[in-house]
Amino acid sequence: MKYKRAFLFLGSFSLFLLQLSGWAFATEPQDIIGKDAETLPLFDAHVHYKRAAWSPYPPNVVLSLMDQNGVAMALVSSSPDEGTITLWEYAPKRIIPEMRPYNDQLGPSNWMKGAGVGDLIEKRLRQYPHEGIGEFHLHEVDPNDEPLMKRIVKLAIEKQVPLHVHSDHEPIEYLYNLNPELTIIWAHAGMSEPANVVEDMMSRYPTLYADTSYRETDILTISGELDPEWKRVLEKFADRFMVGSDTWNNDQWEDYDNLITLNRKWLAHLSTDAAKKIAYQNAAQLFDRKIDSALIGKR
Ligand SMILES: [Zn+2]
Repeated sequence: MKYKRAFLFLGSFSLFLLQLSGWAFATEPQDIIGKDAETLPLFDAHVHYKRAAWSPYPPNVVLSLMDQNGVAMALVSSSPDEGTITLWEYAPKRIIPEMRPYNDQLGPSNWMKGAGVGDLIEKRLRQYPHEGIGEFHLHEVDPNDEPLMKRIVKLAIEKQVPLHVHSDHEPIEYLYNLNPELTIIWAHAGMSEPANVVEDMMSRYPTLYADTSYRETDILTISGELDPEWKRVLEKFADRFMVGSDTWNNDQWEDYDNLITLNRKWLAHLSTDAAKKIAYQNAAQLFDRKIDSALIGKR
């Protein structure tokens, strides 16, 4: 009898322990990745290789920058597109090319007005294995540009590639109105859109992804903590964010080490699950690639 009582006691004690640990799981934040964020393989979803970078940062230098920062793979678009192709030809295992409709004459403010820009996009999509169209800027869409927009949307659907769009939320709504089947990577997660707008957009559009380039100091507060709003949105839509450096000028290349370190700093505050997804797993799924640290040093 005594034994039975002892068992009963042990039984209820272990139940109590189980409850305690259950309670701990429920109320404690998820396991935070912390220092392990320093060694995650990264997918850099916002790289440009513009003409001005070609001579000071030849392809081998770009690849060593990626290697020394643990960046396994990158989504690259350039003005002109030749930059992207040069980098992709040098390191096809590490570079995913996307077609940016810019060149020496066409840039963020006037690309839609360029003669033959639709043909240029279509031709280069045929010629090279581009897996996206962008990054391009879109502010207000001039109704005169609607045929071009429709053509780009049609191409994206046909080729099954995402658009990579630098804009606030309205052009994203406009594009999804043209075709809700699109996949869009929202450059800089809307650049200046607050976290709650990004949350609302991601709730409304299940195929909307975002890269977080240029948002590092919105996500990370001065005291080195995560902004609570951003933390909530990043965890909630951990399946659809990717990090990015945005090497739009040579200062950004110069600063590449710091930029990547800063990204790892905010990733360190997320749950292990979310950090891995945002670091590389979302990109692996979106572009159907195997992304891991074994790629470092390869081309
Ligand atoms: Zn950019």
